[in-house]
Amino acid sequence: MRAPIEAGWVVQGPRVAEFERRFAAFTGARHAVASTSCTTALHLVVAALGLAPGDEVVVPAFTWVSTANVVEYQGATPVFADIDLTTFNIEPVALEAAITERTVGIMPVHLFGLCAEMAPIREIAQRHGLWVLEDAACGFGASYRGDSAGTLGTAAAFSFHPRKSITTGEGGMVTTSDDALARKVAVLRDHGASRTDLSRHVGRAGFLLADYDDLGFNYRMTDLQGAMGCVQMDRAPWILEQRARVAASYDRLLAPLDWIRPPLVPDGNVHGWQSYVTLFAPDEPTLANVEELNHRRNAAMMRLEEQGIATRQGTHAPVGLGYYARKYDLRMERFPNALLADRLSLSLPLYPQLTDDDIGRVVAALREAVEGG
Ligand SMILES: *Cc1c(COP(=O)(O)O)cnc(C)c1O
Repeated sequence: MRAPIEAGWVVQGPRVAEFERRFAAFTGARHAVASTSCTTALHLVVAALGLAPGDEVVVPAFTWVSTANVVEYQGATPVFADIDLTTFNIEPVALEAAITERTVGIMPVHLFGLCAEMAPIREIAQRHGLWVLEDAACGFGASYRGDSAGTLGTAAAFSFHPRKSITTGEGGMVTTSDDALARKVAVLRDHGASRTDLSRHVGRAGFLLADYDDLGFNYRMTDLQGAMGCVQMDRAPWILEQRARVAASYDRLLAPLDWIRPPLVPDGNVHGWQSYVTLFAPDEPTLANVEELNHRRNAAMMRLEEQGIATRQGTHAPVGLGYYARKYDLRMERFPNALLADRLSLSLPLYPQLTDDDIGRVVAALREAVEGG
């Protein structure tokens, strides 16, 4: 971790390159290109794919807002599709219904560490001639039918924000097995430069600046973060194992409770367990009772907070957020499952050091908050 400081090379350099090599090997993708966040990683890919005004991209109605934002950055239009309430991921029939003659791509999200239903999604993409960009912000360690998140589409983007399974403070990574796309992403990350700072520094004629053929960005990860990423990769097997242990304990303790739905893991998936997100459902949730159930969930979360137990809603529904609701005149009721997930999801504490005693205490406090009256 101290190496970049001792060597004096702190911007993108050998540690980032090592982190990229290790990340590519971990996922099985041919290339990994680091950036400053998952949001900028997603932006680099859509820019490299030439996303432009007039184009449409289908995104889920329940996801972190930046999935849609990167489409907006290019002046293109995100078109929202509802999710499956049992997995919180985009629902393939709704996805296909959102496709028009202007659609150029699909951004399935592997929400909370569970891969989207990629077989039908890829089949739809192929039939309509669309690219597939996996928002794998939460997908570290996840796989679908034997293939890792990050290798399931045209390209993918991961996050190393502290809320995710491994972190570099802030940070992101593009993975792809498309050589030309990887090259373009790397160039756009570095102001559009045809040659990197480091290659100028260590090669000959470093006094000459590179050529700049493309409108690029400065989305470079620092070598300080690259060094941290390498250490996180050393710890990744342990981190993922512990996260799976915590999830299994929750599954066991929550199974007998009829008012909460533990996360479903469909056959063929390895869950990455970025989060353990349940659905609060003491009654069958509908658009008619959702606000009343939301108040009950929030009251339970408040009681847990009073005992020092932090819970969160899983994520939000961008279709209900000011910018999108106003710009596209969206009503959340058009996306009933995204609305229910926004109001009723309940994320429980999950980190590798959580002991079985801790987990027992969380579930006991939750039962007391909900069943205790
Ligand atoms: C966290 C997250 C992001 C954003 O990642 P950053 O690294 O913070 O930019 C994007 N999409 C999803 C689904 C996320 O969970």
